[in-house]
Amino acid sequence: MGIALVTGASRGIGKATALQLAREGYTVAVNYHHNIKAATDVIAQIVKEGGKAFALRADISDEAQVMAMFDSLDREGEPLTALVNNAGILFEQSTIENLSAERINRVLATNVTGYFLCCREAVKRMALKHGGKGGAIVNVSSAASRLGAPGEYVDYAASKGAVDSLTTGLALEVAAQGIRVNCVRPGLIYTEIHASGGEPGRVDRVKSMLPMQRGGQPEEVAQAIVWLLSEKASYVTGSFIELAGGK
Ligand code: NAP
Repeated sequence: MGIALVTGASRGIGKATALQLAREGYTVAVNYHHNIKAATDVIAQIVKEGGKAFALRADISDEAQVMAMFDSLDREGEPLTALVNNAGILFEQSTIENLSAERINRVLATNVTGYFLCCREAVKRMALKHGGKGGAIVNVSSAASRLGAPGEYVDYAASKGAVDSLTTGLALEVAAQGIRVNCVRPGLIYTEIHASGGEPGRVDRVKSMLPMQRGGQPEEVAQAIVWLLSEKASYVTGSFIELAGGK
């Protein structure tokens, strides 16, 4: 099945996706940024379940680190067949009056440039015209791209809007190259990202406003990602799956 690279796989949605992909038979490349302990724990769990995985440290917003990460993948002896662009960041909830250029650029560097760089390196390896055997990419966007996250993080929402456009454009660009590119848009999922926004309990505060009246679990998002990567989704490209409890 080859290697599946999952960015930001040390926790949250990325971790759940890494675990499920390993169960499907992929060798999973667990990318992380800071938390080597968490990444090592994910690998230990995969190995305990009989799967294969290894860790790759890289800040996806840094081009040199992304290149080095893909160079490491090339030395693994198995082809890269799947990429999950998942690593994403947001900062303290804020209205636009308090958004600095530095903050906006940091959000865009990880959530947009990082996704572009990983897509670029994956396409170089997967595209038929480059001697690859094709593959599949899933970008993790957010319901925020549709809803805008007013009063919380419009910068983050806008970065996810860019991820949506990247998905549409790249899906068309590489459709004849054996590469499918799709996207998931999670809503309120129980992970640590909400602590970065200054409100660890955010999901429970707003869940009653959702049609389904509950937050989602990382595993529920992971299942959609795994399906989009699989042969079961062989005729699906440029598509978006909403995982937002009906919102
Ligand atoms: P999370 O729990 O905060 O985990 C973030 C992951 O990304 C961690 O593994 C972290 O690594 C990694 N990461 C952060 N910056 C990175 C960088 N520059 N380079 C490489 N890795 C980096 O987040 P999550 O909630 O699972 O979110 C995953 C994705 O889903 C994000 O794109 C997010 O925008 C999206 N999403 C989440 C929700 C939600 O409600 N949770 C809703 C919609 C969309 P370290 O641990 O090593 O720092």
